[in-house]
Amino acid sequence: MLVKQKLLKNKRTKVLATIGPASSSEKIIKRLVDAGANVFRLNMSHGEHHTHKKSYEFIRKAAAECGMHIAILADLCGPKIRTGAFEGGSITLEQGENVVVTMRNVVGKAGVIPSQYSALAEDVDVGQRIFLADGVMELVVEHIEGSDVQCRVVQGGILGDHKGINLPDASVSAPSMTAKDYKDAAFAVDLGVDYLALSFVRHADDVINLRSWLEKQGASTSIIAKIERPEALENATAIIAASDAVMVARGDLGVELPPEQVPIAQHMLIEESRKLNKPVIVATQVLESMIEHARPTRAETTDIFHSVSSGADAVMLSGETAVGSYPVEAVEMMVRVILNTESYLWNHGAFASSANLQNDGGVQVSSSGEILRFGNAVARSTALLSRDLMVRGIVVCSESGWTTLTVSAERPEAPVLAVSSHAEVCRKMSLVWGVIPVLIECEPMENRAFLAKDLVERFRLASSGHSILLVKGFHRDENFNHPSITVLKV
Ligand code: PEP
Repeated sequence: MLVKQKLLKNKRTKVLATIGPASSSEKIIKRLVDAGANVFRLNMSHGEHHTHKKSYEFIRKAAAECGMHIAILADLCGPKIRTGAFEGGSITLEQGENVVVTMRNVVGKAGVIPSQYSALAEDVDVGQRIFLADGVMELVVEHIEGSDVQCRVVQGGILGDHKGINLPDASVSAPSMTAKDYKDAAFAVDLGVDYLALSFVRHADDVINLRSWLEKQGASTSIIAKIERPEALENATAIIAASDAVMVARGDLGVELPPEQVPIAQHMLIEESRKLNKPVIVATQVLESMIEHARPTRAETTDIFHSVSSGADAVMLSGETAVGSYPVEAVEMMVRVILNTESYLWNHGAFASSANLQNDGGVQVSSSGEILRFGNAVARSTALLSRDLMVRGIVVCSESGWTTLTVSAERPEAPVLAVSSHAEVCRKMSLVWGVIPVLIECEPMENRAFLAKDLVERFRLASSGHSILLVKGFHRDENFNHPSITVLKV
């Protein structure tokens, strides 16, 4: 049994890195790009606008210097409920003791936990659980009186200022965009970010409302729905359909759901996103131990193996790159695990084929007599040809990115060179599995075969005698959807 193997030249799964104090300098950002980060996250839960602006500029500069297309996403806080501040900075909660969670404007002390979330007493019921500090501490509601929620401590610990509060059994009534989110979104759109991530999405309307707000601003920023509430899982298909991409936000999801259900939720969200041609990101605690240590745990590298082999488009680093001691090493480690996993899968002809996904319910014929949607069927043929002909590169002409998303969702074996004349589309496509975005001047149709051959040689994917594919003509609107695949020899 050989574990050591010849590695693929290009990784297919993309790496997201969160910027924070450990990585916001120009030098570290440049090193993260060199190490293989494809997308950067500016986290609006932390930091000031002026520091995010600086990071934004450093990222754009680093991308331009190394000639790469890199997307930037601004992650909105959403209605994250937090504790207030405590006398002396923290209190200790003892198991079995009675405490009050209050909406009154007081400083916390032993037995009193303040919160600014004014609807807390209305949202919870007696018997429901309240989790504190990412689920480390647990309370159960015993009695509600006005704006005071009397609780018993089930799991104690030390509770510091402004820690997260989760209400896994309640339906949180706060709107998905707070006043701060609108301010942050306006700032981020003005800056020119490519994606906005919407936290604590509960139903498709949350995404639809943000999209109409963006349209009113004249912005084409794409929306990533963060799935971290149980209600979002119930409404997953509609949320994914309404979004441009999806994030399995395992941090809060792992507090809201029993931990043993998180891997299943992750697996199902990846499958559903791929069926709908939407990029899907697996986030949080990916290399958590590398916040403090130079080497990851075995369980962490195995977790990346599973995210990659189940077909995620991207994996995200949070604290590892934002506040950790080894931000560059974390990206390098992530890239090494991805490349080893993908090389293994590639050698076994097993980039998780969409054929398994699409046929899992047996053969279902649509009203137009198709088993698969037309575009997906052509994209799947692209993936099959890519494997059967040992194709070295697939050149996809995709002005809006739709053809790229459709072809990538079928996980072809060869890298996808996604050609567009829009820099914004190229940046957004940096999130997508297997895609190398290429910005070109608008090309006349008849030059495309020549362009394709030239590009695969330029990117050192193919040389004389190798087969490549040229794919074009997909459209969201069925009336304009005329996809074609051309097999070319370099
Ligand atoms: C998460 O909860 O996993 C997540 C990515 O969100 P945040 O980092 O904003 O808490």
